[in-house]
Amino acid sequence: MFDCHVHSTFSTDSNLDAVTACEAAIKAGLEGIAFTDHIDFDFPGYSNDFMFDFDDYQKFMNNLKLRYNSKLKVLKGVEVGIQPHVIEDSLNLISKHELDYILASVHVIDAQDLYKAEFYSNKSKKQVFSRYLEEVLNMINNYTCFDVVGHLDYIIRCCDYEDRTFRYSDYSDIFDEIFKKLIADGKGFEINTGSYRDKGDGRPVPQYDIETLKRYRQLGGEIICLGSDSHRPEHIGFKFDYFSEMLSQAGFRYTAHFENRKAVFTPL
Ligand SMILES: [Zn+2]
Ligand SMILES: [Zn+2]
Repeated sequence: MFDCHVHSTFSTDSNLDAVTACEAAIKAGLEGIAFTDHIDFDFPGYSNDFMFDFDDYQKFMNNLKLRYNSKLKVLKGVEVGIQPHVIEDSLNLISKHELDYILASVHVIDAQDLYKAEFYSNKSKKQVFSRYLEEVLNMINNYTCFDVVGHLDYIIRCCDYEDRTFRYSDYSDIFDEIFKKLIADGKGFEINTGSYRDKGDGRPVPQYDIETLKRYRQLGGEIICLGSDSHRPEHIGFKFDYFSEMLSQAGFRYTAHFENRKAVFTPL
């Protein structure tokens, strides 16, 4: 299996040394690892900090690929954070570079960092979750340079509700619209296993709703990547066995990763 979502020191918010991450991936029995460092234009509170130099990144990652050659497949990706007003800049920057894999993610809505309390005030859970999915739909309808939607259920990680489970049946119309668009465009989404870690903050761990996967499969969806969103070596490959089993139960026979922007399938 491949861990398709790992942050190295090229990400402003990660101190995970890339070589340490590769060693951890080998130890976890993985076949490959995709580095997906952050590019977020205009992240509130950070100006343009979630950026890195692409020339340095290319050089470093190409060397790492060679170094691990037969031991571990190292893939060079980015996670681009999309807001409506940064689409053009993101497109101009990302489309210029040779990458294996591009994740597109919603981290910010209405100029508010979803980790901050302001976004949730005066909104019900239903309004918050619906608004989040609308923004994902907006993103995939308007930003084209990506392969997979990062953490489709990101909002569960940031919110503070007693029950954080994202149920397909509560938002079926908009989930269906997202799935149909992804399938038509040959794209997919990610199960971000990092959202299902016990953070030790007293909040109950949410459950993943298998109905979401079943419906995507029913509509013809095939591309699902597993990513741990690791910023630490011990999180690499987190819960991959659990989610592989769930994918099988939902009717999938493969997980996907991307090489040179093409989906490659591995049997479950
Ligand atoms: Zn993210
Ligand atoms: Zn990430």
